[in-house]
Amino acid sequence: MWHTFLSERLQQARGQDAVRVREANGGADGRTVLINDQRVINFSGNDYLGLSRHPAVIRAWCDSTAQFGVGSGGSGHVTGYTTAHQSLEQMLADWLGFDRAILFVSGFSANQAVITALMQAGDHLICDKLAHASIMEAAMHSPAEFTRFHHNDTNHLSTRLHRTQHDSGKALVITEGIFSMDGDTAPLLEIRTLTRQHNSWLMVDDAHGIGVCGAEGKGSCDAAGIHPDILIVTFGKAVGVSGAAVLCNAQTADYLTQYARHLIYSTTFPAAQTCALYAAIQEIQRGDHLRERLADNIHTFRQQAAHLPLQLLPSSSAIQPLIAGDNATALALSHYLQARGLWVKAIRPPTVPPGTARLRITITSAHQKADITLLTEALDAFCCQYRSGE
Ligand SMILES: *Cc1c(COP(=O)(O)O)cnc(C)c1O
Repeated sequence: MWHTFLSERLQQARGQDAVRVREANGGADGRTVLINDQRVINFSGNDYLGLSRHPAVIRAWCDSTAQFGVGSGGSGHVTGYTTAHQSLEQMLADWLGFDRAILFVSGFSANQAVITALMQAGDHLICDKLAHASIMEAAMHSPAEFTRFHHNDTNHLSTRLHRTQHDSGKALVITEGIFSMDGDTAPLLEIRTLTRQHNSWLMVDDAHGIGVCGAEGKGSCDAAGIHPDILIVTFGKAVGVSGAAVLCNAQTADYLTQYARHLIYSTTFPAAQTCALYAAIQEIQRGDHLRERLADNIHTFRQQAAHLPLQLLPSSSAIQPLIAGDNATALALSHYLQARGLWVKAIRPPTVPPGTARLRITITSAHQKADITLLTEALDAFCCQYRSGE
């Protein structure tokens, strides 16, 4: 029975050029990655500012192991919470303008925890249609009524909120600062106005905005001039490390400390990681030069890619999706580029909507101009070949 179930599901995945594989890399230097002894330029990571290899961040991690060791030894509710965790939470709260910050092992678990702890039967959970899988996962399992609004469509959101008007349940709207697969930004100011009008709370997941936009890299909400009720920041992208934090008011933080099961029943991440995060955020605060280099590289890429006969989504962020359409073309493109020393992974449904398989190209501050030219020339060559082959 088990064998039949598994083999049928696996067969389904293979049939649609949809099977997912993990390719092991043999180390990275921020700009390139080693795969099967071939050094390739990385255009698929989320280390937008190159901080995962920053000497000050690495030193902070290593130095603190003498004091704290390598493992936290328990949940923060038992023994895992150190003065290093406390300092980082305090620093994040002060920097981003919230009463409190609470650290989580990952963005995925932070989203699960917040949605699971806050939302009850009779409540309304209203999410942007393209919200991240970690939000959708929690929303689908929530006893609250779960609806989605068309991507970035404030009229549709308004209609959704209107329906909750005469209800006794609480309402929570969730969107992202910069969308992970499209690279576009949410109309945060309009959404904040709507949520205030309807007494709904707003939660913004700014996984891809923290570090790269706003003053000092404070993220999308700072750039839009809004203050959400709950802000999720993750540390695996521009911050260059791993982990996440939930920012909120004191009462909500007290509540989550009592009821967030992903916090209470999970080992806190190592204190050394916390020290690395502290150093990485200091680099972000004084990182205007990194953000300028990133913006410059994004501009170069968009200029060079504008003439390609493939749809480049209108994104001004580090995420530059090039739509291939079907899975087979997306995979062919990805393989073609890899053979030329360029690592660009194909992203296929269900991660993205059907028919929009794509290359999710990511630009970082560590890329050189020549890397970008190599990429756009290879894309051009592929398109010429593909066309003449038809
Ligand atoms: C990556 C991502 C997450 C998950 O964060 P992890 O720390 O990688 O678990 C959550 N939300 C969004 C929008 C993301 O892009």
